[in-house]
Amino acid sequence: MMLKILGAAICSILVSNNISSMFQIDKRAIKAAVALRICSRWGHGDPYCDHCVGIQETMLHVMRDCSGAYDIWKHLVPLRGRLELFTCYYHDWVVSNLKATVTVADSVEWKVVWATTCDYLWRWRNTLTFDANFVIPLHTHTEIMKYVGYYYKAKPTSDVAL
Ligand SMILES: [Zn+2]
Repeated sequence: MMLKILGAAICSILVSNNISSMFQIDKRAIKAAVALRICSRWGHGDPYCDHCVGIQETMLHVMRDCSGAYDIWKHLVPLRGRLELFTCYYHDWVVSNLKATVTVADSVEWKVVWATTCDYLWRWRNTLTFDANFVIPLHTHTEIMKYVGYYYKAKPTSDVAL
């Protein structure tokens, strides 16, 4: 309901400012485009998460709060950091993880694990949305840590002579 009101408000602003006539755009086409854009925030026409009942799919939801994301994070986040990871606000969550100096197993930087996990969560979410045949790997955290290992192997070291 709120989205329809917002869409109608945006449409009326466009029409009242004569933007639609400048570009020869039909009022109904604008309404449809605005409604479609709002309702398909992430590209599949429904603003709600496919996994969680009645929850709007925000960026934070996809990356952290979704039940599917939680199942992955709980295998990766050290026990001492779980409460903070799942309770802070989005901005604080991003900043604190990017600035983290802690390491996890084998001197792997947490910020690398965090960024890789976010990347996988977003890719898997999009692939599930647009590819009906896609199946998420059974051991998602293992897949993520394997990619983190590839990152460290490919990362240039400071002791390489040029
Ligand atoms: Zn969800």
